[in-house]
Amino acid sequence: MLVNHLYFDISRGISFVDYATIFLLTNIKLFREKPPLRAMNFIAILCTNLILIVQMKCIDSIKSPTWGIFFNIFCIFVGMKYDVIDRLRRERSLTDVELRELLLSADTELIAYLKEQAREVAVGVFGREIKSRGLIEISNYCRNNCLYCGIRAGNADVERYRLSAEEIWECCEQGDLLGFQTFVLQGGEDVRHTTEWVEMVVKEIRRRWPEKAITLSLGERPDEDYQRWFDAGADRYLLRHETANAEHYGRLHPEGMSYENRVRCLQTLKRIGYETGTGMMVGSPYQTVDDLVGDLRFIEQLQPQMIGIGPFVSHRDTPFAECENGSVETTLRLIAILRLMHPEANIPATTSLGTLATDGREQGIMAGANVVMPNLSPVSQRKKYALY
Ligand code: SAH
Repeated sequence: MLVNHLYFDISRGISFVDYATIFLLTNIKLFREKPPLRAMNFIAILCTNLILIVQMKCIDSIKSPTWGIFFNIFCIFVGMKYDVIDRLRRERSLTDVELRELLLSADTELIAYLKEQAREVAVGVFGREIKSRGLIEISNYCRNNCLYCGIRAGNADVERYRLSAEEIWECCEQGDLLGFQTFVLQGGEDVRHTTEWVEMVVKEIRRRWPEKAITLSLGERPDEDYQRWFDAGADRYLLRHETANAEHYGRLHPEGMSYENRVRCLQTLKRIGYETGTGMMVGSPYQTVDDLVGDLRFIEQLQPQMIGIGPFVSHRDTPFAECENGSVETTLRLIAILRLMHPEANIPATTSLGTLATDGREQGIMAGANVVMPNLSPVSQRKKYALY
C-alpha cells in the first residue's frame, strides 16, 4: 500500500481526486492502526508532499496544493487521536478534561486501543498469568446501613450467617488443596467479630500456612484492630473508598459514616504496612463523570497496591432498588485507565462485572485486570452473602 502511495508516474501527473483517493485509502486506515505504522505513514505523507511539489513544478495541470495540504493536516489530526492513550501510558496520567473525554468517548476504535494498551502493560508486568485469590465470606451480619448494599443492617429479609473459626480454616484447607496462595476474609461489619477473635483466626491461618498471603476486608475498624491483625499475620487489607466526593459519599451511606473516616482508615492501613486496596463502585446512584475523575485522582494520591472497582448492581431490598445498574463498559474503561496509571497494581476483574455481563470478567482481563477472586465460602452459605 505504501509503495502504491508513493509510486506516481511524474510525466502523467496526478489530479486532486487521485491524490485524495489514494491518500484516504492508505493513510487514514494505516494511521488508525498502530503507532509504528503511524510513524511510517507520517514519513509517507512527507514523501507524498514532496512528490506533489515536484509535480507542481513540472506539470501545469496541478497548480494549487491547498486541498492536498488541508487533507494531510486533517489526516494527521485523525491519526493523532491515539496520542492521548500513548501519553497516558508514558506519563501515567492525563488532565481531568482528557480523562473525562475518555470516559465519555463514543469512539470505539480509540477505546479498543485504550484496552489493548492496558492489556499489553499488564502482560508486560505480570506475564500472561492471572492471579487467583480465594474469597471467604465470613459473615453477612453488618452493623452498617449502606444504602446500596444487600446485607445492610436494615434488610430484614437476609438470612444471616457467621462462619465459625473452624469453618474458616476448613475453607482455607480447601483453598490450599486447590492451590490458592492468598486467602481473602471478607464480611460485613459484624459486632461479634471482636479484635481478639479475628486476631486468633488470623494467627492460626498464619501458623498453618506460613507461606500464604492473608487479606482482610472487614470494613472500618479502630486503628488498634488494624495494628493487632497486622501483627497477627495479616498482610493485606481491602477497603474501597466507594467515592472520593464527600457529598456523594454522604448520599450513599447512612448518618454516622463519613468519607473522612474512610480516608483515615485507608491512611492508617497504609501507615501500618498493609498492602492496601481501595476502589469505587461505578455507576452508583448520583455519581457523575467528574466524580469518577475525582476517584482516579484519589487513587493516584493514595497509591494503593490493589484497586478493586465494579459496576453498581441494584439490590431489590435496598433504598436503591429502583436505581439503574452501573455500566460494564465504563467499568472496563476505568480498569484500562487505572492499569495505565498504575502498571504494578493488582486489579481484579470483579464478580459484579461477571454479574452484569456473562463474559464480564474475561473482558476485565482483556482491559488490563490481572486478578480473579473465586469463591471459597461454603456452598450452603453463598447465596446469603448477596451484596447485590
Ligand atoms: N464490609 C466490608 C466489605 C464490603 S463488600 C467493607 O465495608 O469493606 C465489598 C464491596 O462490595 C464494597 O466495598 C462495595 O464496593 C461492593 N458492593 C456492595 N454493594 C454493592 C452493590 N449493590 N453493587 C456493587 N457493588 C457493591
